[in-house]
Amino acid sequence: MNLSADLIIIGAGVVGAMTAWRARRSGLRIVVLEAANDVSMGSTKANSGIIHGGYAEKSGLRGQLCYPGRLMYPELDRALNFGFRTTGSMILAFTPDEAHGLEAILAQGQENGVDDLELLTGEQVRAMEPEVNPAVVAALWCRGAGIASPYELTIALMEQAVETGVRFVPSTRVVAIDPDSGADGGIQVICEQGASGRTVTFTAGHLVNAAGAGSGAISAMLGDGDVNLSFRKGEYLLFRKGSGERITSVLFQMPTALGKGILVTSTVHGNLMIGPDAQNDTDPEDTATDVSSLASIFHEARHSVPNIDPAHLIRTFSGVRAMDASGDFVIKPSSRYPRIIHAAGIQSPGLTAAPAIAELVLKQLKDAGLSVTCSWVDAPRRPIYGTRAVPTPELKERIALPKGHPERIVCRCEQVSESEILDSLQRGLPVTSPDAVKRRTRAGMGWCQGQFCRPRVVEYLRDHVLNDPCGILETEDVAHSGISRVRGDEFKKAIKGLE
Ligand SMILES: Cc1cc2nc3c(=O)[nH]c(=O)nc-3n(C[C@H](O)[C@H](O)[C@H](O)COP(=O)(O)OP(=O)(O)OC[C@H]3O[C@@H](n4cnc5c(N)ncnc54)[C@H](O)[C@@H]3O)c2cc1C
Repeated sequence: MNLSADLIIIGAGVVGAMTAWRARRSGLRIVVLEAANDVSMGSTKANSGIIHGGYAEKSGLRGQLCYPGRLMYPELDRALNFGFRTTGSMILAFTPDEAHGLEAILAQGQENGVDDLELLTGEQVRAMEPEVNPAVVAALWCRGAGIASPYELTIALMEQAVETGVRFVPSTRVVAIDPDSGADGGIQVICEQGASGRTVTFTAGHLVNAAGAGSGAISAMLGDGDVNLSFRKGEYLLFRKGSGERITSVLFQMPTALGKGILVTSTVHGNLMIGPDAQNDTDPEDTATDVSSLASIFHEARHSVPNIDPAHLIRTFSGVRAMDASGDFVIKPSSRYPRIIHAAGIQSPGLTAAPAIAELVLKQLKDAGLSVTCSWVDAPRRPIYGTRAVPTPELKERIALPKGHPERIVCRCEQVSESEILDSLQRGLPVTSPDAVKRRTRAGMGWCQGQFCRPRVVEYLRDHVLNDPCGILETEDVAHSGISRVRGDEFKKAIKGLE
C-alpha cells in the first residue's frame, strides 16, 4: 500500500495533535501516524497537568514558548471544552534562604515577560491556602497559572482535526524513513501496522517529528544527529475525588537542579495529586511505580500540606520526560533534510507551551515551502460528559436500568451514563479499549477503579467496535497490561510501617 499526503506528523501526543489541529484549515492532505492505539499515550497521558506561569525556564525555547502558550489556554478551553481552570500557583518558601531565592525566580519571570507575579508573605499564603504548612515564610504567586486535563485536550484537538479532514492513523509505528526516494521527491515513511506488523508506506512532501520518547529514534533514522534523548521518570499519587478541593492553587516547593520539585495540586476533576519525583536515566517504557519512591513523595508533599490522608489514595502512576542533551526543546528543521521539522525532546513545560510550539513548527514548515496556514479556534466543541451530581436514590434506580437505556448509569463512582459511553465511541477517533473510554468519559477513574464498570464498558465496546480491525485491546489497559504499579492498598500498608 502506498499513500500520499502533503504533510505527515509522527506522534499524536499534545504536540503532534496541536500541530495537526492548528494546520487543519490549510486545505492540505495531513496524516498523523501514531504507534499506539489512541492519541495521548506517551508523556501527554501521565504528567502534572499544570499550565505553568512561564517564569521558571531561563533561556532558549522552553523559556520563550511557555508564557505565550499559557496565555492561549483560556480561549482554547472555551472552544474545545477539555477541562482547564486558572488556579494560580505558589512556590512556597520555608526558610529565609528560600525566601531570598524567590526573588531570583521573580526576576527570571519578569525577564521572560511574565506580568502577573507577586511575592507573598507567610501570612498572606496562610490566608489564601489555610491547609499549607504554617511554617511557610513567603511564596511567589503567579495569578494566571492553571491546571488542565492533558489527555482530554489531546482527544479534543484530534477530534476536531479529524472532523476538518486530517487523517489519524493509530497502531502504526514508523520504522524507517527514506527522505529522497518517494515519487516526485517525496519523503517515504515506512511503518509497521497493527498486531500483524504489516508494512505500510506513506509518502509526503513534508514531515514533522513529534514522536516524544521516540523522537530520538526518528532523528537516528534520518542520520542527522539532531536529537539526543535521555529519560527521567516521575511518579505520582492520586487521591479520591473531592480531596483536591481543600486547596485552590498549585503548590510548588523551591525548584532543584532536577526540576520543579514535588507539587501538591487538584486535578480539574477535583482529585488531590502529588508528585512527581525525578529518576534519571530510566527506560522510556518503564512506567512502573515503587513503594519507596512513593513514600518519599508523600513525605515531601506533606511538608507543603501536612494533612494529606493516605486512606484517600486511589491510584499511583508515572510518566517519563524525554529530554534532549541540549536541555532545551529541539524545534528546528533537520540539519540534513530541511523539509523535515523536529518537534522533539519536549520535556516540561511542553504541555503549557504546546499551542506556541505548534505555531513555531508551522512557521518552519512554511519557510520550508509548505503552503500551510495556522488556524485558531472554531465554534465550541460539545464536551463528552455533563454535570454529575445524581442524588443517591436516583443513582440506584439509574444503575438498575437495562442496557439500551440512555440514562443507565454505567460507572457508579463517576456517574457516567450509557449515552456518554456511546457518545465517546462515535466521535471520529477509533476507541478500542476500556482505557480509551475511561480517558473520554471518566468511567473507571473513581474510587473502585473500574471494578464495577469495566465489564459493562467492555460489553459496549464489544457491541459497538467489535468489527473494528484493531479489536478491543485489553493489553492497552493498565490493569491488564502487566505494568507494575503499586496499588492504593499496598501503599497504605507500606506507609503504616514507615510512619
Ligand atoms: C512527569 C512529567 C510531568 C510533567 N508535567 C508537566 C506539566 O505540569 N506542565 C507542562 O507543561 N508539561 C509537563 N510535562 C511535559 C509534557 O507532558 C510533555 O512536554 C508533553 O506531553 C510532550 O508531548 P509530545 O507530544 O511531545 O510527546 P508524547 O506525548 O510522548 O507523544 C509522542 C507520541 O509519539 C508516538 N510515537 C513515538 N514513536 C513513534 C513512532 N516511531 N511512530 C509513530 N508514533 C510514535 C508515541 O506513541 C506518542 O503517542 C511533564 C512531563 C512528565 C513526564
